[in-house]
Amino acid sequence: MKGLVVKVVGNQYTVIVDKTKQIDCVLKGKLRLQESKSTNPVVVGDWVEITLMPDGSGIIVDLYDRKNYIVRKSVNLSKQKHILAANIDCAYLVVTLLFPETNFEFIDRFLVSAEAYRVPAAIILNKCDLYKELAEQVSEFEEIYQKAGYPIFKISTITSEGIENLKKQLHNKVNLIAGNSGVGKSSIINKIEPSLNLKVQDISLVHFKGKHTTTFSQMFPLSNGGYIIDTPGIKGFSFIDIKKEELFHYFPEIFKLTAQCKYYNCTHTNEPNCAVKDGVVNGSIHEIRYRNYLSMFFDENDKHR
Ligand code: GDP
Ligand code: ZN
Repeated sequence: MKGLVVKVVGNQYTVIVDKTKQIDCVLKGKLRLQESKSTNPVVVGDWVEITLMPDGSGIIVDLYDRKNYIVRKSVNLSKQKHILAANIDCAYLVVTLLFPETNFEFIDRFLVSAEAYRVPAAIILNKCDLYKELAEQVSEFEEIYQKAGYPIFKISTITSEGIENLKKQLHNKVNLIAGNSGVGKSSIINKIEPSLNLKVQDISLVHFKGKHTTTFSQMFPLSNGGYIIDTPGIKGFSFIDIKKEELFHYFPEIFKLTAQCKYYNCTHTNEPNCAVKDGVVNGSIHEIRYRNYLSMFFDENDKHR
């Protein structure tokens, strides 16, 4: 039987077959060892083959090829990656300018990671009800990511601004929702699918780092078709498979200009006649994006590169 993995907690897998039937499954021993570079061999969003047991539970006996996946830094084993979810149609990064303020390098790391694993990405700018005095910051934010080619959805779960439009985007797709703790992921999912009634953090706890309402990814069917994947509050994204020299491939607006650089092996850091540096000067590449490119390029802490 073919099924879709919707929840993974430890060694317990919840698999949906025939669109609605949930089956509790375990993993066949052999599968556990196959993907040694990742800490988790089967993830939310995976399509699997299961064998049904007489007691109604199942055994996952095979894993279908993934079209893509998204990875975060593994918490304790730096050489291993932790896959958050697989087979994603669009990964939405929820960002806020206030409470909490999302860091631009965090955003760009997410986008690079999505590009590298061929996951289409978009940005949800949440808590827009709080930005009355920040009109300039909001339009700069939009400018940065529009130039880079990413869709931006401005919403508020409090005023419902932008929610209907977002719902339309999510329809019939597999959507991943990621972001720092406290940006409103659970609130957004509840707004899209009220019956889920996910736990929302008390605003007073949002500032205490380390408070997470979600500790694992979980996939929820949308009542009008499609799925939403809730992910844990994330601190960083892994670049395990990305080589330094290839980093510019994953900044779409930077990559577009690189054919015009003088040197074929230009790293776009300090070479003469670099079309990327010209692009920053003439404004087709936003300087914040370029700054983050340099910062990631020279980051000695990304040891795994
Ligand atoms: P998560 O950690 O990303 O799942 O965030 P939560 O959904 O738990 O929300 C964190 C806090 O932000 C809660 O106190 C929410 O009430 C608040 N919040 C969520 N969306 C909005 C919004 O659009 N505007 C404002 N002002 N607060 C919001
Ligand atoms: Zn260059």
